Amino acid sequence: VPLPETSLIDRIRRMVGPNSTGIAGIGDDCAILRLPPGSELLVSTDLSLEGVHFRRDWHPPETIARRCFARGFSDIAAMGGAPLAFFLSVALPPELKQSWVDRFMRSLVATAGEYGASLAGGDTAQSPDSVLIDMTVLGSVPAGKAVRRNGARPGDGLFVTGDLGGSAAAIQFLRENRRKRPDPGTFPRHFLASPRLAAGLALRKRGLASAMIDTSDGLSTDLAHICEESKVGAEVWAEAVPRARVGKAMREVSLEVALNGGEDYELLFTSPRRVAGAIAGVRVTQIGRIVRGRVVVLKDAEGKSRKLRPGGWEHFR
Ligand SMILES: [Mg+2]
Repeated sequence: VPLPETSLIDRIRRMVGPNSTGIAGIGDDCAILRLPPGSELLVSTDLSLEGVHFRRDWHPPETIARRCFARGFSDIAAMGGAPLAFFLSVALPPELKQSWVDRFMRSLVATAGEYGASLAGGDTAQSPDSVLIDMTVLGSVPAGKAVRRNGARPGDGLFVTGDLGGSAAAIQFLRENRRKRPDPGTFPRHFLASPRLAAGLALRKRGLASAMIDTSDGLSTDLAHICEESKVGAEVWAEAVPRARVGKAMREVSLEVALNGGEDYELLFTSPRRVAGAIAGVRVTQIGRIVRGRVVVLKDAEGKSRKLRPGGWEHFR
């Protein structure tokens, strides 16, 4: 049984320690936050439900915490923002062990510490039979400088950080091997998810990205969002798409999984400049270019094109 609310909050407060970015965090009626002078506030919110976004028999509490954190702060990264703080509300079923809650919270607080974001408040409640996690994340960006989805222009290159399909491949593995729990290190983008905050910040500071989004729903779907907002089309080079290597054998995922698998939390961006090599220690690959019109096509090695439809799948259906 999880601890009652007041003792749970005391315990979390001890884990968090003195607040770093918030002037006052947990323990008052409201959190008071101070933004760096001349900056705007970025806010995003995500609901993570057991059975929809994670499964307790598949995901140890530490990995659920990392995935919630990555999911939230990946949106801050995609705007070129710096992490500030987050709010966490959880509903916990009565049969849950307090040790599960401790493992989840310790991992969340440690991950937040790595990225310089502080837990500034939240709420707890009892749920009938499953875990519900609601996270609101806050970031800051110099006024008027956030990287939007609507800045892509014909002629811009299309780039992606890291590699794609690794998270969806983990779900495939878990489905096909019902009794095996894979080593989290063999599917790092799924179990050890991390937001590309340093890369997003560097791209914004160096003025490299004309439009940007994080790959939460899958490349084909997220690229469609950029094209829609920027009123442009795109050409994706199939051979260039960086595919994740997963599992013990480090096998490359299929092109379909790399194009449509979601939850990799990489950054997909466009740039009028040539972006080569790495940004903030993360590999960057050009995978195509922005074109006139409103159509997104996939070009294979022989130069044959087919329409690339948004095909991000919903993992647990
Ligand atoms: Mg996003």
